[in-house]
Amino acid sequence: MQSTTVDKSTAKKKDSDFKLFSQLQTYEHEQIVICSEPSVGLKAIIAIHNTTLGPALGGTRMWPYNNEEEAIRDVLRLSRGMTYKAAISGLNLGGGKAVIIGDPRTDKTEELFRAFGRFVDSLGGRYITAEDVGIDVQDMEWVNSETKYVTGIPKSLGGSGDPSPVTAYGVYMGIKACCKKAYDNDSVNGRKIAVQGAGHVSSYLCKLLAEEGAELYISDIYEDKVEELADEVNATVVDPDSIYGLDVDIFSPCALGGIVNDDTIDHFNCDIIAGGANNVLDREDKHGQELMDRGIIYAPDYVINAGGLINVASELEGYNPERAHQKASKIYDTILDILNYSEENDTPTFVSSNILAEKRINNVGRIHRIYSSKSEFSGHVGEMYRGKQ
Ligand code: NAD
Repeated sequence: MQSTTVDKSTAKKKDSDFKLFSQLQTYEHEQIVICSEPSVGLKAIIAIHNTTLGPALGGTRMWPYNNEEEAIRDVLRLSRGMTYKAAISGLNLGGGKAVIIGDPRTDKTEELFRAFGRFVDSLGGRYITAEDVGIDVQDMEWVNSETKYVTGIPKSLGGSGDPSPVTAYGVYMGIKACCKKAYDNDSVNGRKIAVQGAGHVSSYLCKLLAEEGAELYISDIYEDKVEELADEVNATVVDPDSIYGLDVDIFSPCALGGIVNDDTIDHFNCDIIAGGANNVLDREDKHGQELMDRGIIYAPDYVINAGGLINVASELEGYNPERAHQKASKIYDTILDILNYSEENDTPTFVSSNILAEKRINNVGRIHRIYSSKSEFSGHVGEMYRGKQ
């Protein structure tokens, strides 16, 4: 019989082990891979959340995390988000993400990224990587030297290049769907739209909105950037703090996350919040419900900004910009489905999109129980890479 006396340090250790597995079980992750190559300073974690719909695709983030737990938490949260984003976008992809612990300004080397690429390769296509915060095209080229399971590489290497134009196009279609719901007319002609941020996504988006006759108000923390864009699209420049309170039809967040929060929520004077930024709601449950209570239509961020993922995913079939745009145009129908579901079921829109994404995963998962001679993942990845071999 085993002794029941447990040394306190052992008990503590067991407790922390238990927390990691309970995290994986709570959010239903399939696998995490710890990648270590001390000779090149590589400390990376790959998280595969769900591969029911296909191989897990998601970017690699490089960040100087304060500790390992912070890095694990981040990769678990981000990889789960990718499962929902791919599922609701109708892609045959699962959710995954990777983080490299390090400072992107000082710690990047060819060896580090090639070592990381070998770990990605060792997963045989269960995880496909791309760029995320702190990673640029050069880094992905190094990863690509060691594995074919990488997207977001430059056009010169057969990749899709900058995803912002397709992201912006998807946001534009999502805004039109919101207009259809709010005004029974999806034109933005004559609509007053406040756009936060004058960066990549915003620039392409503002051009599309201006071409259709929208009246634009733009803010950015960099005066030169915002003035240049405002000149180009004939917009009014607004101070970054005043943009929340503008009396407009649509507020389009295209800068940072967390901008619908306890401090800003009472200032919004619009019918619709729909933009390209990630994690717009500071607290999904609280602020999603509060927007609904105020009668403001909120387009869930991971649905409306999925054009970037749709763009890199189309690299897997051999990149074709027209096809990527065509797929991104479906964001219109997806957003409308979510808004209708929310109205019928009296649920905040982010809850509705989670429910609809889970429904697709469960339904497709059910048909995967039917035996097919085609191996699910190797066949799928093999097919996707047909053009790249
Ligand atoms: P970007 O860095 O090119 O642009 C962001 C802009 O926001 C910058 O000009 C910055 O100065 C400005 N900004 C920062 N804080 C601000 C503030 N408080 N007020 C006003 N402006 C502020 O980034 P991007 O690629 O255009 O991405 C914008 C958002 O869209 C991000 O949240 C990103 O995660 C998300 N997103 C981007 C893509 C893509 O394809 N680029 C895809 C999906 C989601």
